[in-house]
Amino acid sequence: MIDFTFTEEQDLFRKAAREFAETMVAPRIQEMEESGEVSLDVVKALGEAEMMAITIPEEFGGLGLGYTARLIALEEVGRVSCAVAMMLQVFALGIEPIVKFGNNEQKKKYLPGLATGERLATVGVTEPTGGSDPTGGRTVYKKDGDDYIINGRKCFITNSHIADTITVLAKDDEDPKAFSTFIVEKGMAGFKPAHEEHKVGMKGCNTGWLIFEDCRVPKDNLLGVEGKGLRVAMSAIGDVGRGGMVGCSLGVLTACLEEALKFANERVLYGKPIIKLPAIQDKIAMMKLDLEAGRLLGYRASALQDQGARCDTEFAMAKYYTAEAAQRAAKMAADIHGGYGCMNEYAITRYLRDSFVLGPSAGTSDVMKVIIARSAM
Ligand SMILES: Cc1cc2nc3c(=O)[nH]c(=O)nc-3n(C[C@H](O)[C@H](O)[C@H](O)COP(=O)(O)OP(=O)(O)OC[C@H]3O[C@@H](n4cnc5c(N)ncnc54)[C@H](O)[C@@H]3O)c2cc1C
Repeated sequence: MIDFTFTEEQDLFRKAAREFAETMVAPRIQEMEESGEVSLDVVKALGEAEMMAITIPEEFGGLGLGYTARLIALEEVGRVSCAVAMMLQVFALGIEPIVKFGNNEQKKKYLPGLATGERLATVGVTEPTGGSDPTGGRTVYKKDGDDYIINGRKCFITNSHIADTITVLAKDDEDPKAFSTFIVEKGMAGFKPAHEEHKVGMKGCNTGWLIFEDCRVPKDNLLGVEGKGLRVAMSAIGDVGRGGMVGCSLGVLTACLEEALKFANERVLYGKPIIKLPAIQDKIAMMKLDLEAGRLLGYRASALQDQGARCDTEFAMAKYYTAEAAQRAAKMAADIHGGYGCMNEYAITRYLRDSFVLGPSAGTSDVMKVIIARSAM
């Protein structure tokens, strides 16, 4: 039997996540939009609400609720603020390699502080010479006694300026085929965040560069096996990163549908609300269809992930579908607003800008199609 219903616990969790987003995140949106800065109040609230603890095992201070719960939380936070959902999604992306590949000492050292939000995380893979192709990166490491020395730079890193614990992919300077993943900590000599980007959307979520200049990292900070780091970094991006983007995209889709319905019910033309017009209903139907189809793809992938089953293609499909659908929904919802859809006073313009950023994050739509086709072939 296939059960498409959420458990009572999951429904209660969704209710709590929605309440959190509406009371703790919504009041900060204007300020984040205007300043483009991360709201530290929101970060603190995320920690207090145990939003960073969802996928961390209980024995290391987490909730151990799994990936469906995470998707629910991201969908609800993303419905209110895609920027905050993105920040939260990438915290988990920095945490996952420690959960999956860290040794017991590393888990004990890092996870409890990450679960409470006392420490914040991110993952550094992308470089100017390698986004879709992470092997094109030029950040290198070399062994020096009991330490590793890292040199290079990473770009487009979410939480670059607020993260304390950064999972970084680097290449062996003597063997371009060997990659390793390290935990770099804020304050380590030779490491600094640099150049904060000004994105078209997701204002309030920080994106920037990371610079490594003879950054000395102790061998205890190597994650997994030396030379096998590509798998460590990419398994986090593949499942957790794409799963997180599905949550952000579903949030935007829901927000677009709700905003379009609200406007279409209030806007009166020809003596009646425009929701009565077949052309408007057509757009509403397409948004609703995309939302439900995206949910089915996304929650199926997260259910597989919770079972420990392989889910990379499922998340590639869900990521492709929901990110594209969120962009379609934002365009349709803006169209329903007529001229008001071009005015920044209306939330729909934020959804339009945010939806644009969903595309490349955690892998472009082209790359998702490559993964899907590879699986089909
Ligand atoms: C807001 C935001 C946040 C991000 N956060 C992080 C983060 O926290 N950590 C991190 O490491 N990275 C992060 N990234 C980087 C993101 O993962 C990359 O932008 C993405 O992988 C694409 O890489 P690129 O930008 O270098 O584009 P490229 O790889 O240069 O792609 C250029 C074009 O080529 C196409 N293309 C590439 N390969 C193929 C192919 N095989 N077949 C067909 N077409 C192809 C792409 O679809 C695209 O159209 C973030 C990006 C954004 C926008």
